[in-house]
Amino acid sequence: FTVFEALGSKLQGVFDRLRGRGALSEADVNDALREVRVALLEADVALPVVKDITAKVRERAVGQEVIRSIQPGQMVVKIVHDALVDALGGKDAAKGIDLAAASPVPILMVGLQGSGKTTTSGKIALRLRGRERKKVLLASLDVHRPAAQLQLETLARQAEVTSLPIIAGQTPLQIAQRAMETARGELYDVVILDTAGRLAIDDALMDEVAAVKAAVKPHETLLVVDAMTGQDAVNTARAFNEKVGVTGIVMTRVDGDARGGAALSMRAVTGAPIKLLGAGEKLDALEDFHPDRIAGRILG
Ligand code: GDP
Repeated sequence: FTVFEALGSKLQGVFDRLRGRGALSEADVNDALREVRVALLEADVALPVVKDITAKVRERAVGQEVIRSIQPGQMVVKIVHDALVDALGGKDAAKGIDLAAASPVPILMVGLQGSGKTTTSGKIALRLRGRERKKVLLASLDVHRPAAQLQLETLARQAEVTSLPIIAGQTPLQIAQRAMETARGELYDVVILDTAGRLAIDDALMDEVAAVKAAVKPHETLLVVDAMTGQDAVNTARAFNEKVGVTGIVMTRVDGDARGGAALSMRAVTGAPIKLLGAGEKLDALEDFHPDRIAGRILG
């Protein structure tokens, strides 16, 4: 994922210098840590998260054990790796979408307009139909932009799943309830509800999402955020989690040239785990989020 490339090459530079060394002084470790801190800040990682990561690394790395070990450089890399995994949500984070509930399982998709929410709804539908053999119903609750409803219909066709027939004049709540009734009657396994997005967070958007959430009681509420928006993605996630509550985050456009720091800040700042990554416009460009694999890629 290109969003982690810049951070990765900076950190690899720092560690290449440490790796070959047979002995490290406390000053060497401190120098390296200073460079790690700069690299994280330049990658747009939130300051409290940078502090947390470097404090953890310092605590473990400055110990005599590292300085006396035969390959101290490797040990420091391992310590940074573990700190990155923690920041990304921990080893056991993100088990993908949780469908462990009575069918039909409602999944609510929320996020700002342009974040990739509708595309991601299509991607999830394709994955659940294909890999998990689920019968999936897609429904657009975006009554503000009729084009959005048509877009979801097109995506449903591409993903070879059903979309709820559009009835003009219904409210988002009515559409959501109709989707659930249809799904119960026709024995669907999963209902994906794509809500309306706005260009910015406002009370009307939050109230609308909260009302649908209260009525449908989704098993997953997935927030879609655009990695290209950096720290704004983190602020968006915090606001959504405070106002409606989310069970997971899908970060899109990790194929772009943004700095990947938002991914590292997300868990600490919002409390919600990243579950999936969107890595392209095509419907199969959806990846599971594995903190250890991402940390591994960043450190090369
Ligand atoms: P929505 O307004 O949140 O529903 O956003 P859309 O799903 O309509 O997506 C907006 C644009 O972003 C579309 O052109 C999508 O093809 C594109 N898009 C969505 N996800 C990704 C992604 O992971 N990578 C890239 N490169 N483009 C994406």
